[in-house]
Amino acid sequence: MAHILIAEDEANIARFIAKGLTKAGHTSDVAADGMFALQSALHGAYDLIVLDVGLPTIDGFAILAALRESKNTTPVIMCTARTSSEDTVHGLTGGADDYLAKPFQVSELVARVELRLRDHQQHRAEAAPATEALPLRAGAIELDAHARTAMVGDRRVDLSAREFMLAELFVTHAGTVLSRDQILERVWGLDSDGRSNVVEVYVRYLRQKFGAESIETVRGLGYRMLQDPPVG
Ligand code: CA
Repeated sequence: MAHILIAEDEANIARFIAKGLTKAGHTSDVAADGMFALQSALHGAYDLIVLDVGLPTIDGFAILAALRESKNTTPVIMCTARTSSEDTVHGLTGGADDYLAKPFQVSELVARVELRLRDHQQHRAEAAPATEALPLRAGAIELDAHARTAMVGDRRVDLSAREFMLAELFVTHAGTVLSRDQILERVWGLDSDGRSNVVEVYVRYLRQKFGAESIETVRGLGYRMLQDPPVG
């Protein structure tokens, strides 16, 4: 299951794409505005971005350029109504991983999404062959998946299964804001549920164990663990 950002201002098209991705077992968020799409792409934990070229405020090419400039390597599939090959070249040299001209079949887009996700995973596996030995660490917080404990500086703390999953999500996304919905989905496998405060409760548990300042609340957006979180 992958989490995908759909940057598309035409609601109907966005809905079709989201539906196709859901059917293929993925989750997605829609950004209908360029500025918002860029912010989401930079701060959300997305596995892939479906990026329309023609977007309000800033266009897809500018978004792509900004993403790559900030060393964000999330795979991007560009979509556009323009069919000139010049655009294709522009998109691909600008760091897009693939390119799709509108109108396209959603099934074709989904197939390409799967392909890019596989490519990217393989790439990452090759880039980091010693994945198993890679410590789960953010600054002074280091997780031990086998023992299901964390070292916080030189203090060892035990974690419940759910606390560990949440801690792992924060540590592997250190520096990134995670929305409450993303956390719910990744740790509890739940769809957004406006009434549940389970995320807040578990963030509190982790703060008690790691330090009150270890996880920041980013008002209106979610939570973030810094790359070198203050512990205590
Ligand atoms: Ca558009």
